[in-house]
Order: sequence, then C-alpha cells, then structure tokens
Amino acid sequence: MGVIIEPFRIKTVEPLRFTTRAERERALAKAGYNVFKLRAHDVTIDLLTDSGTGAMSAAQWGALMQGDESYAGSRSFERFDSVVRDLTGFKHVIPTHQGRAAERILFHSTLQPGDVVINNIHFDTTRANVEYEGAEARDLVMPEGRLPAFIHPFKGNMHLEALESVLRGEEGARVAMVMLTVTNNSGGGQPVSLENIRAVRALCDRYGKAFFLDACRFAENAWFIKQREAGQHNRSPKEIAQEMFSLADGCLMSAKKDGLANIGGFLAMNDDALAQKCRNLLILTEGFPTYGGLAGYDLEAIAQGLVEVVDENYLRYRIRSIEYLAEKFLAMGIPIVQPAGGHAVYVDAAALLPHIPALQYPGIALVNSLYLEGGIRSCEIGTVMFGLHPDGHETAAGMELVRLAIPRRLYTQSHIDYVVEIAAAVKEISWALKGYRIVSAPPVLRHFTAEFEPLRARAVPVDVS
Ligand SMILES: *Cc1c(COP(=O)(O)O)cnc(C)c1O
Repeated sequence: MGVIIEPFRIKTVEPLRFTTRAERERALAKAGYNVFKLRAHDVTIDLLTDSGTGAMSAAQWGALMQGDESYAGSRSFERFDSVVRDLTGFKHVIPTHQGRAAERILFHSTLQPGDVVINNIHFDTTRANVEYEGAEARDLVMPEGRLPAFIHPFKGNMHLEALESVLRGEEGARVAMVMLTVTNNSGGGQPVSLENIRAVRALCDRYGKAFFLDACRFAENAWFIKQREAGQHNRSPKEIAQEMFSLADGCLMSAKKDGLANIGGFLAMNDDALAQKCRNLLILTEGFPTYGGLAGYDLEAIAQGLVEVVDENYLRYRIRSIEYLAEKFLAMGIPIVQPAGGHAVYVDAAALLPHIPALQYPGIALVNSLYLEGGIRSCEIGTVMFGLHPDGHETAAGMELVRLAIPRRLYTQSHIDYVVEIAAAVKEISWALKGYRIVSAPPVLRHFTAEFEPLRARAVPVDVS
C-alpha cells in the first residue's frame, strides 16, 4: 500500500517556539499547573483541540479576498448557501458564528421545559444548550461505545433498542428531537454507520420525531463508512455524506471542524416554519440571515473548506495520521481508546498511572508531564472536567482520558514523531509522576480556570516483578 503522505505542500510557514525545561517549569507554575492558562507562545506542539486550529489552503486564502461584505444578499452568502445545499440537500441554510450559536437557536425554537433530546452522546455545549431550555439531554450510545479498549467499527452508533423503548414508552411524548453526533466527539471521535443512521430515521418516522445530525465531523464519519461498512467502498465520501444528510431533517454544524475554517457554523433544515422561527432569532442575536454573525470572507473560506474536506486524498491522510499516532502509542504500551477516533487519540490516564487516585487527577499529571517533557499541550477529559457535581461533591469520572486532538493539515509526520518520542519519555517516568490538588476553582466548568498544586509525596513504584 505504501506510505500515505501529506497530500499538500506548504506555501506559508509559521515558526514553532522551542523552550527549555526551566522555561516550561516556570510557565506551568505561573499557569497554576493548568495548561488552559498557558500562553500559546510557550507551547511547541498544541494538541489542545482540533477546533478552528487547522491550516487553510491557498484556495481558501484566495477566496477570502473575494468576500462580499454587503450587509444583505451578498455574493459570498450565495456561494456558501449553494455549497451547503449541494452537500446536505437541506432547503434552508442559516449561517451562525459557530456551532453553539446554531445549537442555541435550534433548541430555543423547538424545546419546551420538560422535553427530552436523545443523542448518541451530547457534546458539552450541545448538552448545556439543551439544559438551558429546561429540557433533558439523554445519551443513548451503544454500550460498547463506553468501553475504551473494546474494538468495534462503529462505536458511535445509537443503541437502537434503548431508543425504541424510550419512544414507545410513556416518556415518548416528551421526546422533542433525536440527534446523532457524527463522529461522536465525546465518545472518542467514533463513527456512526449508515445502517444505524437509517435505523434511527426509521424509528423517528414510526414515532413522528424530528431527527437532526450534529455534523461537525461529517466528512471524517463518511470516510469511516467508506472504509468499514459493507457495500460502501466504491462510493465517494461526498456521496456517502449526502446520503447521511438525506436521512435527517436538518443539521447543526461547527465549521471549525470539518468546515476547515477558523470560525463559523450553520444550521440547516427542511421545515419552512421552523426555519422562519430560527431566522427570526438569528436576526436578534447573530445578524441578518445572509451573514449570521460572520464576515463575507468567512462564508467564502467555509464554502471552499466544505469542498476540500470531502476530497479522498485529504481524508485518507487525515484518518491515517490519527491512526499512525495511535499505533505508535499502542506499540509502546500506552493504553488508548480503541480503535483510533477521527480527530484525536485519547490516552487512558487511569490505566497508565494506576498509582495516582482519581481525586488526585491522573489526567492532569499526564497532561502536565507531556508539557514539561516536550512543550506539548493536551487536554484532560476526566475527573477535573466531569467529577464535580452541582451540590459541590466530587466523584471520579467514568473514564480518566487525556485527549491529543490533531488540528487539520497543521502538523507534519515528524511533528507527530516528536510527540511519540516525548510520550515515550513520559511513559519511562510515569511511575514517578505525582498527583495534584486543586487550590482554587470556579463552581462550573472548572477545568478551564482551576489552579492546581503538585502533591509532594512521591508515589511508590508498583512492584511488577
Ligand atoms: C465543537 C462542537 C460543537 C460546538 O461547536 P463550536 O463551534 O465550538 O461552538 C458541537 N458539537 C460537537 C460534536 C462539536 O465537536
């Protein structure tokens, strides 16, 4: 098969900054041992998120200059609208400044207090926007989707029996909408099969429910379908994506992911009356319906990005580059969520650092060690993010993960090889890593701003002889 190379060459470069160990120690202490509080300037390889952090193509930068900044009816909106309609088939396309604005507008226009929204797993902003309307966000991913080491080709699939039993039961009337997040970001970037999307559509038809896709990573999902689902191998990613969208009544999109843009999003749907309601709300808080909080040049960049993202060479490289990092981690015995997701590798920090109790935050210990050893920034998805309850008590999260999210088209294979080398160094000293305690934290979304202190007592190495 041969080596899969980056399907681009580089026209513009931005220098990386290298730091000394002493500089990193100072920077991390100053940040309260929370990498969210580091200056990006002090980070060498930034794998905090894949959202809005990718590189745009020459064609996208060229398109920026063609942005039509007319307040109403701009040419850039026409291009954006026609690209999104060609891809999704939805009748109404409503631009927004990013994905969460589309969420707020859709949910405020459709939900009543007491309603239920069902999803494979709600992304955190999606959940927060559902709950803000007084509705319940319920996650019904297949049970295998919650087991880090369990290998399954479509771990993002909806648990169909569980969905049907809710729709058929006495709660059925409260279900306002069914959603599928493709790929399932909060479940490790795992894909959903076409067969599962079709089955969810059929259940929504039977019980008269609206069905929306959270489509942020639709192209990565389409690529997994092409590779893994029977009968799909000869179709293009775009054809597969078109079928995915054709099965839904509408979608929410953050263009910061598979839009290959640095900002933007949209809401799209077939229902005329709902679209009218959403546009009315859009005008109130985002802007006129032909720009929705974006500049004309943003609409141009997104329209071009949506064309590039379904390119087979791009997707083959994109998915392979994540898998490459996952294979290296597995080969050196670093436990990860398997199989590799579409946009990130998730390390099982609890399994790597068994001597650090959950309430001493093994995820933070790993994140901070990756930074100290090599200036790599990653993200804890564990007890700091999910362990604090509204009544103030704290429990261990279900999984202690550390996510290394790979920005699109930004880093080369040697950057990833460097990440592997640093991870190997961290693994060598992992037995000696210490836990942390929280010095200060806000009551909600504490992971962004909490400050920590390393615990002094050195862990005793576990005798494995
Ligand atoms: C990023 C994301 C969102 C929210 O989009 P923003 O552009 O960050 O507001 C919603 N759902 C999923 C699955 C996402 O990954």
